[in-house]
Amino acid sequence: MYKPKDSSQSPRFCGVRTFMRLENIKTTDNVDFVVLGVPFDTAASNRTGQRYGPQHIRNFSVLLRPYNPDMDINIFEYCSGVDYGDIDVIPGNALRTYDNIVKELLPLLEKNIVPIIMGGDHSITLGNLRAFYKHYGPVALVHFDSHGDTWDHYYGEKYMHGTPFRRAVEEGLLDVDHSIQIGMRGPLYSADDIEDARRLGFEVITMKEVRQIGFSEVMKRIHKRVGDKPVFVSYDIDFVDPAFAPGTGTPEVGGPTSYEALEYVRGLDGLNIVGFDLVEVLPAYDSGEITAVLASAIIYEMITLVALKKRRSLQKNLSATTTQ
Ligand code: MN
Ligand code: MN
Repeated sequence: MYKPKDSSQSPRFCGVRTFMRLENIKTTDNVDFVVLGVPFDTAASNRTGQRYGPQHIRNFSVLLRPYNPDMDINIFEYCSGVDYGDIDVIPGNALRTYDNIVKELLPLLEKNIVPIIMGGDHSITLGNLRAFYKHYGPVALVHFDSHGDTWDHYYGEKYMHGTPFRRAVEEGLLDVDHSIQIGMRGPLYSADDIEDARRLGFEVITMKEVRQIGFSEVMKRIHKRVGDKPVFVSYDIDFVDPAFAPGTGTPEVGGPTSYEALEYVRGLDGLNIVGFDLVEVLPAYDSGEITAVLASAIIYEMITLVALKKRRSLQKNLSATTTQ
C-alpha cells in the first residue's frame, strides 16, 4: 500500500514536493489511483503558463491530511496511490502529446487504476479521452467549466483548448447520450454556441440554470444522465468564480464559490468514475496561492471518491461472504 508521508512525524515542508506527499513511483502494482501531470499549454487561446500548473498544485497539496471529515472516510485505509510524475509533452504539438498521453495512460487503465490528471490546458483532455476510449470504448462525460469547449477551431487550428469536446464527439470517444456539461457562462461568439453543444448531443446546464434550479437538482440531473456508465470527469478550474480561482487563462465572473466547487465533486459519489482531470491552473495569475489551495482540495475530493468506491466494493464482498 502506498500512502502519503505522515506529516505528524515528518514536517510537511520537508522533502521533494509530490501530490499530498505521496511517493513518486512509476508503478502499476498495488495501486488504486495515480496522480499525474500533463504540463502542456501551447493550445491555449489567451494566457499561457498552465505548464506550471501541476507543480503549483503539488506545492500546496502537502497540507492535505488523510481523513476527509465531509465524506467520513480515512482515504488510505481503503486505497493506495502514488504520484506518477509528469507525462512528457511536446510543446507546440498537441497531436504528438496525445500519443504520449495514450501510451502512458493505457497500462494504468488495463489494471483498473483511476488516473487523476493535472493539466495543462484543456486541449489535453482529448488525449485523455482517446486513451479511455481504447480501453473502455465510449465513456460518459461530466464536464465542469465556464466554457463548453465545443468550438470547431481557432485560427483554423482544430486541436485547441476550446475544441476538445467537439473533437471527442467527432472521433466517437464519448457516450454522448450520457454526457453532461455544467457551468457555462460569459460572453460567446454567437447565440448558437450553447445550442451547438446540445446539437452535438450534450445535456448542458448553464450557470444561470444552475442558480435557478440549485445544487441538489443539478446533482440529480447529473446522476440521471450518467446512470451506471463508466464516466470521465473533466474539471476546468475556470468553472469556479475567479474570486476563488484567479490563476487561470480565461476567467469568467459569476461562478460558484470554492465551497460549492468541492460540493460538486462530493456529489458525484456513487457514479462509476474511471478517471478525472483538473485543467487550466495557471500559477502566474494566481494570488496568495488560492487557486492552488482550491485545486489541491478538488483533487483530494476526487481521490476521496476513489476510496469511497473501493470501500463500497469491499463491503459488498464482505456481505457476500458472510451471507454464503
Ligand atoms: Mn475548458
Ligand atoms: Mn474554461
